[in-house]
Amino acid sequence: MKIARNKVVTFHYTLFDEAGERIESSVESGPAAYLHGRNNILVGLEAELAGKQAGDELKITVPPELGYGLRVDDAVTRVPIKHLIKPGKLAAGKVVAVNTASGPRRAIVTKVGRFNVDVDFNHPLAGKTLVFDVKIVDVRDATEEEIAHGHAHGPGGAHDHS
Ligand code: ZN
Repeated sequence: MKIARNKVVTFHYTLFDEAGERIESSVESGPAAYLHGRNNILVGLEAELAGKQAGDELKITVPPELGYGLRVDDAVTRVPIKHLIKPGKLAAGKVVAVNTASGPRRAIVTKVGRFNVDVDFNHPLAGKTLVFDVKIVDVRDATEEEIAHGHAHGPGGAHDHS
């Protein structure tokens, strides 16, 4: 079965940055599953997976524009510490959740002050060219429920939103 819109694709991947440094891998977390054609994964990854099938192995290079986007300089901003959700002990590099007008958003602390912190709302992988080693494990038809929800429910189609 070939990968096309409304197929559920299960795959293993290892992600490297442009310099070949390993960032993460599904080897530890178990294979990833997504619903094809519904914007569930990076645009650059989805485009290259179309038409492939179980057993195929690919190396896919995703430029920032088709990955996590370019870095935005004004995404670095100063917020009151009281706007952080359960801030705990703050230090540069710590990932925090910030209460914003549009709901909680993840950010990385860049500088800690007495009452405020500087945080960077850019995705940690923004601005990076990513290299994925992908092995396609399985391709199946999505269930009606998955098509209605617009996402995959895990390798077997069982309902699980974790
Ligand atoms: Zn669902």
